[in-house]
Amino acid sequence: MTTAVSEQGASALMNTYARFPVAFVRGEGSCLWDEKGVKYLDFLAGIGVNNLGHCPPAVVEAIREQAGRLMHTSNLYRVPLQEQLAQRLVGSCFADRVFFCNSGAEANEAAIKLVRKYAHEREKGRVQAHRFEIITATNSFHGRTLATLTATGQEKVRRGYEPLPPGFRYVPYNQPEAVEKAITAATAAILVEPIQGESGVVVPDAGYLAALREIADRHDLLLVLDEVQTGMGRTGRLWCHQWSGIHPDVMTVAKSLASGLPMGACLATEKVAQAFSPGSHGSTFGGTPLVSAAALATLDVLLEQGVLAEVPGKGEYLLEQLRTLQLRHKMIRSVRGKGLMIAVELNSPAEEILGVCLVRGLLLSCQMGTVLRFLPPLTVTREEMDRAVAILDGVLTDSY
Ligand SMILES: *Cc1c(COP(=O)(O)O)cnc(C)c1O
Repeated sequence: MTTAVSEQGASALMNTYARFPVAFVRGEGSCLWDEKGVKYLDFLAGIGVNNLGHCPPAVVEAIREQAGRLMHTSNLYRVPLQEQLAQRLVGSCFADRVFFCNSGAEANEAAIKLVRKYAHEREKGRVQAHRFEIITATNSFHGRTLATLTATGQEKVRRGYEPLPPGFRYVPYNQPEAVEKAITAATAAILVEPIQGESGVVVPDAGYLAALREIADRHDLLLVLDEVQTGMGRTGRLWCHQWSGIHPDVMTVAKSLASGLPMGACLATEKVAQAFSPGSHGSTFGGTPLVSAAALATLDVLLEQGVLAEVPGKGEYLLEQLRTLQLRHKMIRSVRGKGLMIAVELNSPAEEILGVCLVRGLLLSCQMGTVLRFLPPLTVTREEMDRAVAILDGVLTDSY
């Protein structure tokens, strides 16, 4: 009947998350239900994972069908569904080759290894490549493994894990000139998010990625884009960098790739991907038949059922509604975003507002202390957006 996590059960978990005292037992579309049957609007979509909403029927069906046929075979053998998925992904962007893994951190870890290996291959004969350094941005987020937390430009993520792997430099985001200044003889690549997600939906100037591409070309560096959060249609293009007119050398993807089954991918041009050869890198679970089937079904729904095409219009609508809210609430400092990746920044701490929103049936996240982040499913309806805005309106009104 209920599946409540007992105090006992909860205490057996390592203390890595500050969890709200609520547990969801069912999801459908933009909605979740807790163990008492209370309904919530999930405007966080897992955490940027359930871009097609909870339990999208076509994906559920593909998983059920594949689970009954074959879930896992080793990467010692061909995996046709993985090959199909790779074909589908390279057909959608600049890339020629894909490596599959199981998370965003692993996708970035693969990208970091690929950058180093590529430099190494070009400088054959050296024990350590001359060029290995990767320039990343302040307030970026790239994951929690040792290399990716080091790539992450946030002191709080790195503290306590020293000694950190060498080879990363941080520069302010949205300042191409800062990247140029940080380049040394050891620099191999630039790694950034097209929009910074975890630091509160920081949208750079329109020319930022193009400026980075130009700098990378001029200094013979690789441009690596972390599209773990911005990818899979979140901003209204399948990949966010496709708004910019440039393409990277390497791109990482995860979160929504398989609609909630764990899957990450590192995509690269042929020239760069050539640096990997059998034995260079690997993963037991990367690209199993089960997750590949889920990802293929996800892409079908996203691209062929018109979900992606509606994202810009929905995003504009939600931004507009939130900007109307801003006119009435002095507490709102700014409203920003692209597609359905949106932030409402407050003049004061947002944690408490977030908690009240949850109690009133709306899931958001709080970033950097004062930012409410909206990552609704791309399938969200106008009525659901109206309802979410009305809940936030009420919470802000009552908090004065
Ligand atoms: C979530 C996220 C990651 C890490 O993904 P995991 O699957 O948690 O390892 C990396 N980069 C960005 C931009 C993210 O949003």
